[in-house]
Amino acid sequence: MECKRCGNTEKSWFAYDPFHRNYYCRKCIAFGRINADEELKEIHYETSKRNCHYELKYPLTSAQQQAAAKIRQLQNEKKDILIYAACGAGKTEIVMDSIMRYINAGKKVGFAISRRQVVLEIQERMAQAFPMLHVIAVCEGHHEESDGDLIICTMHQLYRYVHTFDLLIMDEIDAFPYRGNQLLETIAAHACKGQRLYLTATPDEKMLKQTETGELGIVELFQRPHAHPLATPRVIHTYASMQLLYLVRFLFRCRKAEIQVLVFVPTIKDAKRYARWLRLLFRCTDLTSQTDAKDQILADFHKHKYDCLITTTVLERGITIKGIYVAVLHADHIVFNEASLIQIVGRVGRNIEMPSGEAILLCQRMTSDIKRCIRAIQKMNETLPQSHTVKLGVRR
Ligand SMILES: [Zn+2]
Repeated sequence: MECKRCGNTEKSWFAYDPFHRNYYCRKCIAFGRINADEELKEIHYETSKRNCHYELKYPLTSAQQQAAAKIRQLQNEKKDILIYAACGAGKTEIVMDSIMRYINAGKKVGFAISRRQVVLEIQERMAQAFPMLHVIAVCEGHHEESDGDLIICTMHQLYRYVHTFDLLIMDEIDAFPYRGNQLLETIAAHACKGQRLYLTATPDEKMLKQTETGELGIVELFQRPHAHPLATPRVIHTYASMQLLYLVRFLFRCRKAEIQVLVFVPTIKDAKRYARWLRLLFRCTDLTSQTDAKDQILADFHKHKYDCLITTTVLERGITIKGIYVAVLHADHIVFNEASLIQIVGRVGRNIEMPSGEAILLCQRMTSDIKRCIRAIQKMNETLPQSHTVKLGVRR
C-alpha cells in the first residue's frame, strides 16, 4: 500500500474503513481523506495569455536587476533555483519579473510561505505591484477562493493544488514548519509541475551541495538597497546570572541614544520573567505567541511607547522596525539555531534612514550555531562592493 499524496508506505499508518472496505492514510489525514493507492487528481485552472507588468514604489537597484537577470537566464535553462538573499535585500521584488513573464505566457503561478501572517502581507504587496491582477491569499481563515491570477498561500494549503503550478515560489524554506518536514515537502512537490524558486536567507547544506553539483541553480543577493553591510553581532561570553547586568547596561546606553531594542529570550516563561524585572527600569513589555494583543503592542512599539520589547523567536522574521537594535539572552540555547540567529540579527538596519545598528549575543558558551551565523554574515558582507571590515568581537 502506498499513499500517493504523502508517499507513506508504512502499514501502521493506514487504517481500515469497514464501511467502504478499504484502507486510508492517517499520516496526511489533516489534509483530507485519501485511500491507499488512490491516484491524485490533477487540479487544473484555466489560464490565458496576459499583458501585465509590475509597478514598484522604488525601482530595482542595480544589484537587484542583476539578480533578476540571472534568474531569467537560469529559468531558460529549465532549472529550479535557490535564491540566497540577505535579510532585507528585497527577494520578493526580484521574483516579480519571473511572475510577470510566467503569467503573461498564460502559466499558473503560486507563491507559498510558512506563516499565515506573511501570506497576507505578501498578498497585499503583490496586489499593489500588480494592480491589474486578481491576487488571492489562501490560508487559515481565507479559503473561500482557491483560484486567482496569482495565488499566495501557506505551505500547508499547497495540498489543495495538484500538478497545478508552472512556477512555484517557496519563501522562507528554512522556517518552521516547512524545514525538515517530509510531508510538506512531498505536498509541495505534487503542487508544482514546472519550475521552483526557493527563497531563503539561510539555505541548508543539502541545498548548497545541490547548487555545487549543478542540480540547482543559485542566485545570490547580499546587498540591501541602501548598500550598507549587515550588522555583525557582538558575542559576550558571561555567566547566565551576569547576562542581565550586561543587558541592562546595553539598554541604558540605547535609551540615552533614543534607540529601541528587541530582546530575544528562549522561552515564553523567560519573556514574562525578564519583562517583570526590566519593567522596574524601562518602559517594556513581553510579546510571545501567547500574547493576545500582539498587533496593539507592535503598534505601540512603533510609536516609541516602549524602550524595549522582550520576545521569543515568534518575532524573528518579517518584522521591520526603524532604527532598532537587538539583544539575545542565552543565545547558546537550543532554540537559537543558525537560521534564527541570522534572522534576528537581520532585524537591524533595515531602514534606509537608519541602515546600521548593533546586535549583541549573550551566552555562556560559543555554540556552532553562533559561529556559523557570524561566518554567514561575514561572508555576505565580504561580497559587498565597498570593502567593509567586519570584526568578530568576543569579550569575556
Ligand atoms: Zn498520506
